[in-house]
Amino acid sequence: MLGYLKRIKLSRLNIPDGIEFDGSQKQNIVLSKLALLVILIASVHLIDDGIFASESNNFYLILTEFLLVVIGIVTYILNEGRKHGIAKHFFLLSINILLFFMNTIVPKESGTFFFFFPLMAATFIFYGYSETFKRYFYLILTSSLFIVLTLLDFNIFGLMVEMDTAYDFITNLLSSNILMVMTIHFLIKLNKQTENNLLDHQLGMKKLVDELKDKNIHLEKANTELDKFAYCVSHDLRAPLSSILGLINLSSLEKSAKVHQSYLDMMKDMVTKLDHFIHDIISYSRNTKLELEIEEINLEKLVNENINSLKFMKGWNQIDFILDINFKHPFVSDQSRISIILNNLVANSVKYHDFSKDKPYVRVLGYSKKGADFISIEDNGSGIDSEYHDKIYQMFFRGNVNSTGSGLGLYIVKEIVDKLQGEIIMESTPGVGSVFTIKLNTHVNP
Ligand code: ADP
Repeated sequence: MLGYLKRIKLSRLNIPDGIEFDGSQKQNIVLSKLALLVILIASVHLIDDGIFASESNNFYLILTEFLLVVIGIVTYILNEGRKHGIAKHFFLLSINILLFFMNTIVPKESGTFFFFFPLMAATFIFYGYSETFKRYFYLILTSSLFIVLTLLDFNIFGLMVEMDTAYDFITNLLSSNILMVMTIHFLIKLNKQTENNLLDHQLGMKKLVDELKDKNIHLEKANTELDKFAYCVSHDLRAPLSSILGLINLSSLEKSAKVHQSYLDMMKDMVTKLDHFIHDIISYSRNTKLELEIEEINLEKLVNENINSLKFMKGWNQIDFILDINFKHPFVSDQSRISIILNNLVANSVKYHDFSKDKPYVRVLGYSKKGADFISIEDNGSGIDSEYHDKIYQMFFRGNVNSTGSGLGLYIVKEIVDKLQGEIIMESTPGVGSVFTIKLNTHVNP
């Protein structure tokens, strides 16, 4: 055994870096490497002692070397065959017995017994914290064998050979020390990796908790909005329906055709309001559900279509619609979402116009600036009071007593702009007018 272990190369026990292994995988790799090392070193000695046989090489020494080769092969096959548990038991048991036997045939002055110490240390590699019983079993076995040897003065079977031990003592002491250091180094490395894994795990957990907190905040917001939504929707749907029902009751009692006509006009207004409301809810739902569809858009055409679709609005024909669409490149975005934005903003400009003004106008601009696309809708209408500036994007907010809308328009516009990863900027002065500017990232290709 003396020479076998002294040739161990440190690198044989190194674990490949940059690959994630857990402790047990590393144990298995170390076991296979140890088995190969034993095969290699024992074979060299076997050939050496077999060919250059001298008087000191007795039969038992060669037998021990041969058995070492067998132990190495069997351990390797078991371990590579994924029978790691059996491989560890087999290796530790047989090496313990063989080391014991070897110490009875080579003089104690050779220091072969030093190898009991790295063997005990190696037990800590193979049986970690969770395998206390097995670990203590092998620790007690190794120390017992060593104590028995010492108590019986090594030459137990009377097979001790005569040999020069001065050189062997130093090499055995050195090799067993190197083995000890390697074992301890391996255990420290394993511990460090466990610490790092734990740290990574903690960081991962923290990230997860932060994500959860974030999601919770979003959920709470969604929940509050849903409550508000359910309340307002049911109210805004029921109110016109109850009014229509009331008007139907009244008309059934009324005989005058003129009054009937006025009831019908009122009903028409209510149905139109309901229709707008349902239209807004559909737009909102579409924005949340549908994926973005980026394509090239003829904005001028789209704006004109939107303006024309509003021609039944009160005061529409008194407004001067001015268009100035001038992008540096083809305008690319999600057509149906841009259409909803335009529809809401232009409709508001018409709805909240100040017809006492000389020249009521709505100006729609499209331009590119500093790598972004801008669409702005400007009017010289009633303007918005500064106290409402930070409220107008809220769900169901109506800032005007005359508003007959759902209070969803600007909320939907803001949601869409967020989905398009853009920005909406509003400047408004009561009595002067308002400008809503949408800033969008330039998409070059659809
Ligand atoms: P609504 O259905 O009431 O129009 P919106 O969300 O579209 O709901 O608008 C919210 C409020 O913002 C309106 O009630 C109105 O007071 C104000 N507002 C929006 N656009 C304009 C505008 N162009 N001029 C004046 N006030 C506006």
